[in-house]
Amino acid sequence: MSQVRLSIFNSFLNPKLFTLFSASLPFPLSQMDVDEPVCLPRLSRVAVCGGTHGNELSGVYLVRELLKLQRRPSEDDDEEPTSLLTVLSNPRAVQQGRRYTDTDLNRCFTLATLNGPTSDSPPYEILRARELNAMLGPKGGPGAVDLVCDLHNTTANMGLCFIAYSDCDWICLHIFKYLQRQMPDVPMRFVHLGSSEKESYSLDSVGKHGFAMEIGPQPHGVVRSDIYGLMNAGVQHMLDWVRLFNSGAVFEGGFVDVFTLVKNIDYPRDEKTHNITAAVHSHLQDRDFCLLRPHDPLFQTFSGETLRYSGSEPLYAFFINEGSYYEKGIALSLARKRRLVIPAIRAQTEEEEQARGFTSEEEE
Ligand SMILES: [Zn+2]
Repeated sequence: MSQVRLSIFNSFLNPKLFTLFSASLPFPLSQMDVDEPVCLPRLSRVAVCGGTHGNELSGVYLVRELLKLQRRPSEDDDEEPTSLLTVLSNPRAVQQGRRYTDTDLNRCFTLATLNGPTSDSPPYEILRARELNAMLGPKGGPGAVDLVCDLHNTTANMGLCFIAYSDCDWICLHIFKYLQRQMPDVPMRFVHLGSSEKESYSLDSVGKHGFAMEIGPQPHGVVRSDIYGLMNAGVQHMLDWVRLFNSGAVFEGGFVDVFTLVKNIDYPRDEKTHNITAAVHSHLQDRDFCLLRPHDPLFQTFSGETLRYSGSEPLYAFFINEGSYYEKGIALSLARKRRLVIPAIRAQTEEEEQARGFTSEEEE
């Protein structure tokens, strides 16, 4: 990692640049002129978070490195209009080397949990979620950071994945496309959690734009140099993209393949004890994002029997045998793949932002 490249993102806040805007996204494709780039507000504040799950160590160590670099003063500070906030999300879990201490922090960012009443002794993670919401949010508010990139590891063989709630957030999709281009040898997928009624619950949902960068395979509680290196490169390319975007570069439109979550599948379980009775089949293990067809081997019972996929639609399997999902009752997830058209984009100029700011004030 180059210190020079990072130092231009050193933390400072420039309130002049926090332009209020009401609706940043999305613009329906039908309303877009094919040739004219969609203009979006600049990304003045970017947060990179790690250790949201305390035993996913690539993000923990990467955030620590970024924090070290940020402590070194840089001459470029006053010239860079982007502030980088670097956050170790769940320091208590990190210290204990566990995913969480009381409850999964990355399920605590619904508006109900963030804003609801608390019990007498609330779980640590709920209190921490509220602190993070105060620091990076408030979620849904105009003061929220512009982009949250939350770093995760998976034990599954998923390569580098973006996981996001929206399939029409052009910022996240363009960053993904840029990373694909910069890291052509890395298997990379965009996972869309689906437009279900379920409210967004994870830390990245606190920003105006956000995604989880999920990289594997890496056992929890372990840091591997290859996986760490991928994450470091991914974060640096993301920050490069933000700098280019803010400086007025036009990003061409194109295609992105998106995997939309359809459903999760649990392990077969004993009715009485609820213990699992099978493991993921060896034909499927480590083959994340392969197409699972009806009647393909799915599980192998501990007595040696092959259980097959009983669905009628071929779907793509991912998070196959993820270590931390046993407790959630998820053996794997299934997705439908679609090719999305994304428009060309560029950042609004300062004049455009100001004009837009005046318009929103008048509207109020
Ligand atoms: Zn995680």
